[in-house]
Amino acid sequence: MVSFGVASSRLNAVFSEVKNKWITGLAFFRYLTLQKVINYLLLRSSFHLSQLLQKPLVWGKPTTLSIEPTTSCNLRCPECPSGLRSFTRPTGMLQEQLFERVIDQVKGHLSWLHLYFQGEPFLNPRFMEMVNYADSKGIFTSTSTNAHYLGEKQVTEVLKSGLKQLIVSMDGITQEVYEQYRVGGNLEKVQEGLKLLVSERGKAKQNFPRIVLQFLVTGQNEHQLHALKSWAKEMEVDELQLKTTQIYDFESGSDLIPSDLGYSRYIPVGQGKWALKKKPENKCWRMWQGAVATWDGKVVPCCFDKDASHVMGELKNQSLAAIWGSISYFNFRKQLLADRTQIEICRNCTE
Ligand code: SF4
Repeated sequence: MVSFGVASSRLNAVFSEVKNKWITGLAFFRYLTLQKVINYLLLRSSFHLSQLLQKPLVWGKPTTLSIEPTTSCNLRCPECPSGLRSFTRPTGMLQEQLFERVIDQVKGHLSWLHLYFQGEPFLNPRFMEMVNYADSKGIFTSTSTNAHYLGEKQVTEVLKSGLKQLIVSMDGITQEVYEQYRVGGNLEKVQEGLKLLVSERGKAKQNFPRIVLQFLVTGQNEHQLHALKSWAKEMEVDELQLKTTQIYDFESGSDLIPSDLGYSRYIPVGQGKWALKKKPENKCWRMWQGAVATWDGKVVPCCFDKDASHVMGELKNQSLAAIWGSISYFNFRKQLLADRTQIEICRNCTE
């Protein structure tokens, strides 16, 4: 009887995950055009050919873009430079004029826009207008938030904005555990905001944004997974994602590494030392798929370059297409194909 109950709840979880992916996928396909599909296929084929030839060829333009609404953040998470206020790059807010100019340039080939890199997007006062602008140009939009700003006004705006996916970071199911990683966070506020969004979305009979609850599994919160799953089910969030945590100095271990190594990017290798679970290969689809931009328009290779140490170009005075085909990008991709361990940010990356 017990095992039947467990099997049935697993089946329900799988069913709701498939349903959510289906709804998200349908929305994504609705925004696709022939031009975007051809662009994607060109990127894919040039990615494979580049590995074969050991030479970077890029035939398309970015199909995804992450852009940072702001570097400001209300929390102080220990593995995040926004939280630690440890950036060497300037901090600030993405301006609408720059954002709209970029969107106008990329709307023909961009299939997914993630309005997030570092910081808390809802702190940018023009954030919702930006989402709305991208949506009106036929681009699928998503964002990530710590959900401290989901009051009545923001929830109404979110529902009107056209946002398709909202990822909420919540890494504990009690305040005591939650604030160990989300330092300065208020779990009750997060949960109230989520509850409000789910209920208002239901009242508005809308399917979007899809709400994804993201939980970074650490040594401090792994014992709460069971309670978390029950809570997520009760809250009717659309998807629960259990994520592994990136740790900067993992070689000597960390309290953040969970004991269940299924949720860890690292494995012990003896004598108190740790290594990446997966040996990095000299390839990276992300370098062919899309770009990441900081609030002030610096294009960087990917979201691991949090402090913008590899600037490929500046959107303030160049188009994304020109930056994408620049010599800086070429050299970065070339190094990646030759020996990725020579690039510092790529060494601790599981891509
Ligand atoms: S860190 Fe390097 S390997 Fe990882 S996603 Fe970025 S470019 Fe690719």
